[in-house]
Amino acid sequence: MEKSGKGVLLWVVLLNLAIIVSEIYFSAVSNSVALLSDAMHNTGDISALLLALAAATLSERKATKKKTFGYSRAEIIAAEINSLLILAVALFLVYESLKKITHPSEIKGRLVMLVASIALAGNVASALILREGSEHNINRKGAYLHMVADAGTSLAVVGGGAASYFFGLNIVDPLIGIGVAVVIFIGGMRLFMEAVHILMEGAPDVDVEEIRKKALKIEGVKDMHSIRCWKLSDKEAYFVGHLVVSARSLKDAVGIRKSVERCIKKEGITNVTLQIESAEECGEKANVL
Ligand SMILES: [Zn+2]
Repeated sequence: MEKSGKGVLLWVVLLNLAIIVSEIYFSAVSNSVALLSDAMHNTGDISALLLALAAATLSERKATKKKTFGYSRAEIIAAEINSLLILAVALFLVYESLKKITHPSEIKGRLVMLVASIALAGNVASALILREGSEHNINRKGAYLHMVADAGTSLAVVGGGAASYFFGLNIVDPLIGIGVAVVIFIGGMRLFMEAVHILMEGAPDVDVEEIRKKALKIEGVKDMHSIRCWKLSDKEAYFVGHLVVSARSLKDAVGIRKSVERCIKKEGITNVTLQIESAEECGEKANVL
């Protein structure tokens, strides 16, 4: 991430931290669990942003003799822990909401509307800051779209405050609390599954079978087997395999290998290792392909 990108994110983080603190404080004063949910939702987002920033710094560290992959996976481990915390928070919010539904208490609707409106303004401001340049940067785009969704939940909390202020409908607030908790849970679950996929050495978003077919069309390639393909982190993907070639010289064989490597890298794989062999020498059974 370029320096200016980090600067922009820092402002968004500070703005949202201020919103979160005031939301937590006023959720207690106003008896609103919806406001607390909104605060927790924003907390989850900000912790994800901070983790991404910290991990980006950590992953710049060089690999060592003991850690030959460096610290690329630090981000994934952090994301896994973060997702578990997010899921716990979602369950806690459902519990708090149910408590308010079974034991209703008066909600200070005007205060809820006021604080949630400020949060809404903060989300809109963050969205506008992030929108600039979001067409060119996938991370920025994700953050921008997320802020738009956050504005939506803040708007719902404003609605809950209005329902109790104008109509005395105190039950709307905890119902919105549950709704926001569900949104938080789904986001947490998605993050959890993504991190598990990477920790299970899952393949990146490519069709390995298709890559093999393309490689087999390259002249001199007789077979490719014992393929293993995995994601190290969000940025790096590995591909290893045995490449059976028919070549007259080692130089030819290396040339064929380089062509296959280029073909694989075109699919977005960053690191390719191919073991060259002739048809008769390999007895290894293929795992999948
Ligand atoms: Zn082999």
